[in-house]
Amino acid sequence: MTREMEQLKQWIEESDNIVFFGGAGVSTESGIPDFRSVDGLYHQQYKYPPETIISHSFYMRNPEEFYRFYKNKMLFPDAKPNAAHLALAKLEAQGKLKAVLTQNIDGLHQDAGSREVLELHGSVRRNYCTRCGKFYDLPYIVQASGVPKCSCGGAVKPDVVLYEEGLDQRTMQKAVSYIRNADMLIIGGTSLTVYPAAGLIDYYRGNRLVLINKSVTPMDNRADLIISGKIGEVFAEIL
Ligand code: NAD
Repeated sequence: MTREMEQLKQWIEESDNIVFFGGAGVSTESGIPDFRSVDGLYHQQYKYPPETIISHSFYMRNPEEFYRFYKNKMLFPDAKPNAAHLALAKLEAQGKLKAVLTQNIDGLHQDAGSREVLELHGSVRRNYCTRCGKFYDLPYIVQASGVPKCSCGGAVKPDVVLYEEGLDQRTMQKAVSYIRNADMLIIGGTSLTVYPAAGLIDYYRGNRLVLINKSVTPMDNRADLIISGKIGEVFAEIL
C-alpha cells in the first residue's frame, strides 16, 4: 500500500464525522460515462453540445430532442453500485460518515445502502408532470416514446437540475452545514468545475481534505492529501 493510501486509511480510522462529496467519476466504474474524461460525453459528437441540450431553454424549445439525448446518454437503469458506493454506505453504517453529497443523478448511493444522500442535482428516478405535478418513476420514462406524457396530458419532466436552473436552496444549506462540521472531507470523482456545487469545498474548516481523482483538478492545491486513481479501486483497497 502506498504512503498516501496508508494516510487515508489512518485518517478514516481516526475520524467520526466524515463527509463525502462526489461527482460523475464515482459512477464511471459502474459503466456510467462522466462528462469531462476523454471518453466522456463532452468528447463525443452531437448536433448540439451536451451542455446546450441539457439546458432549461433547450428543454423548453425542443423537448423531443432533449429526451432523445437524455434517454440514450443519461439513463442507465441497469447500472449497479461499485466498490466506492458500497464503501461509503459501510462507513455510514459504522457511524463514521455523516452524509454523501453528490452531483450525480443516478441513485446508486441509495442502491448501495447510503441513507443520508444529498442529491445536489436531483435524480433521474423522480419525474413529475409540469401541469398537475403527478409523480412518475424511471421505468415510466424509459418505456415512454418521445416526450413522456402524464395521464392529464401534460409533459413529464425529470427532477434533475438542468443548466440555467437553480439548485434547491434547502439542500445546499444542509450540504454547507455538513461540510462546516466535518472533521474529514473526502472529495472524489469530480472535476470540481460545475458551480455552485464545486464552491462547497470553501466551507470546510478542517485539515483532512482528501481528493481522490484519476486526473488533476483545479483545486488540488487545497487538498491535504491527494490520491490519484480510480475511486472504486482506492476504496476496495482500504476497506
Ligand atoms: P465531470 O464529468 O465534470 O468530472 C468527472 C471527474 O471524475 C473527472 O475529473 C475525471 O477525471 C474523474 N473520474 C472519472 N472516473 C473516475 C474514477 N473511476 N475514479 C476517480 N475519478 C474519476 O463530473 P462532475 O464534476 O460530477 O460534473 C458533471 C455534472 O454531470 C454533474 O453536475 C452531474 O450532475 C452530471 N453527471 C452525472 C452523472 C451520474 O449521475 N452518474 C454522469 C455524468 C454527468
